[in-house]
Amino acid sequence: MGIMQEYIDEAERDLLHTYNRYQVVFDKGEGVYLEDIEGKKYLDFVSGIGVFALGYGNREYNEAVKAQVDKILHTSNYYYNVPAIEAAKAIKKVSGMDRVFFTNSGAEAVEGAIKTARKYAYLKDGRTDHEIIAMEHSFHGRTMGALSVTGTKKYREAFEPMIGNIRFAQMNDIESVKAQVNDRTCAILLETVQGEGGIHPADESFLREIRQICDERDILMILDEIQCGMGRSGEYFAWQRYGIKPDVMTCAKALGCGVPVGAFLMREKVGSASLKAGDHGTTYGGNPLGGAAICKVLELFEKEHVLDNVNEVGAYLFDTLEVIRAEREDIVDHRGVGLIQGLEFDHPVADIINRALEKGLVLINAGQNIIRFLPPLVITKEDVDRMAGILRESL
Ligand SMILES: *Cc1c(COP(=O)(O)O)cnc(C)c1O
Repeated sequence: MGIMQEYIDEAERDLLHTYNRYQVVFDKGEGVYLEDIEGKKYLDFVSGIGVFALGYGNREYNEAVKAQVDKILHTSNYYYNVPAIEAAKAIKKVSGMDRVFFTNSGAEAVEGAIKTARKYAYLKDGRTDHEIIAMEHSFHGRTMGALSVTGTKKYREAFEPMIGNIRFAQMNDIESVKAQVNDRTCAILLETVQGEGGIHPADESFLREIRQICDERDILMILDEIQCGMGRSGEYFAWQRYGIKPDVMTCAKALGCGVPVGAFLMREKVGSASLKAGDHGTTYGGNPLGGAAICKVLELFEKEHVLDNVNEVGAYLFDTLEVIRAEREDIVDHRGVGLIQGLEFDHPVADIINRALEKGLVLINAGQNIIRFLPPLVITKEDVDRMAGILRESL
């Protein structure tokens, strides 16, 4: 029995079985390649579910994180620290938002956004029965609040009751949203591009109409940019492609490029009239290590012209996948923007993904029938060609 199989067996004895894992133990990474513990290399089109935007082993990033480890890892949110202050400045600059709260994960950022919306509405009318409208097929995380606004019933069912007063509408169907709006609505929450739900970008008109409803009724528009944000769409945040701006935004995944951080951000109008001292907190969130990682990530995005690369290679990936789509009758749709794209088949894709893995290509699904493409944002056209070659062999 190989060393890899021994570790897998051990994992299956010791770790709680909350994932059906692919049969591989990854050990290191370089650039856009991963290596398993037996030395086999894999081209990575998942980047740890949209995390490793800069690719693996970016020297400058690694040095910055190591330097912060040697300096100080953690203080507490009862004190100020320079990396968090610099990180806040950097993310405000690229997002145009005014206030930020740093978290440890995406789900926790969504929790914060929900609390912000409820508090904002509470301060206006003193009621405690406010409602949030979320979308069917959305994904916002696994904690109870984030799960409550996640539009996939099978994720929620065994854990009922959820937090109350959540209504669901259909993505890109503005009438279904209007039908749920009433005088208790405090927020409309959606992913700008649905990720786990199958790579469904919001239409521009849908976003604009939601913006309008929110403006007219002073409801908060919350955009979840945890997967589609941080450059993946070709802009820092996907909503920037449409000339609208949310009131609250969540971010995580590629924000730390491997250091577990998230954030929720808001406009001043919300920041000055929602969460106050004592309303919310976290031990680790916004600590010096996370702050240092965020600062370096955003610095490298600029320096390495990451957005330009996403736009150029994203378009090339789109064309490449269009060609593959035209070759095959079992591909029914191709969606996405930048380097968040999906190919929908008329059958489950698990076998394709397993064959690709055997051939040294890491892919992931989004729902049973959709292959999702979330490569590091630094991939090249040659990497796309290599991916397409292995994908064709695996189909
Ligand atoms: C991954 C994800 C989350 C949850 O983030 P975690 O860091 O896993 O808690 C929330 N929303 C979206 C859109 C995501 O893709």
